[in-house]
Amino acid sequence: MNLQMDTTLGQTFSNKSQIARVRTEDWAGRELFCAACASPSLTQSPNNAKAIDFVCPQCQAEYQLKSAAKWNENRIVDAGYDAMMDKIQKDETPHLLVLSYSPKWEVENLTLVPRFFFSASSVQKRNPLALTARRAGWVGCNILLSAIATDGKLSVIQKGIAQSAAQVRAQYEKVKPLAKVSVDLRGWALDVFACIRRLGKTDFVLADVYTFENYLAQLHPENNNVQPKIRQQLQVLRNAGLVQFLSPGRYRLIG
Ligand SMILES: [Zn+2]
Repeated sequence: MNLQMDTTLGQTFSNKSQIARVRTEDWAGRELFCAACASPSLTQSPNNAKAIDFVCPQCQAEYQLKSAAKWNENRIVDAGYDAMMDKIQKDETPHLLVLSYSPKWEVENLTLVPRFFFSASSVQKRNPLALTARRAGWVGCNILLSAIATDGKLSVIQKGIAQSAAQVRAQYEKVKPLAKVSVDLRGWALDVFACIRRLGKTDFVLADVYTFENYLAQLHPENNNVQPKIRQQLQVLRNAGLVQFLSPGRYRLIG
């Protein structure tokens, strides 16, 4: 993978973000492959209205590309809050590609968040725009990368070193079972899964997961029966092939 962008592009723009958009999209159009199938390339999508930048010509997977010289590791600014929540509810979010580049326009980091890792807990409502703004009252959102399980942040390029397509697809295959979990259950399942990952061990017991009870209650204020919900989600994760039940109250992470 060639990490250098074409710096002859966008020279007529004075706005840095326009230059970045032209160069990163051109680079992605040349270098990106599909993580969800064997396609060696992605096609640039003209459908900007849906915030979809690339589509896989083989499996039709949709990708959104976000680029910046530097990202806040915890959250990135996205579009409208209501539109994002609606997309999550309809299971229509595209895969997210988060790209950062060096002052010399080389791609430094590229992270892929598979579409099925987005839940209400990973979207933060921003304050409405001031009344003096052109779109007064409009409410945007942040995507909370910090709230997404590490399994949901697939490394494509890290500190200037690219993974092979095979490595990226292997990471994707490992978490793909989550796509089968229904949207209604997915939010909880992802939150419980993120907590289990935070334990930092392969084998764990129910009491380990219960230590996140208060945290999970904050994420889901509508539910005051968190312990039964945790047990239910462990079954969801088991059915998705991500957790193995060893014996009553004892579990193992798979993969
Ligand atoms: Zn594909």
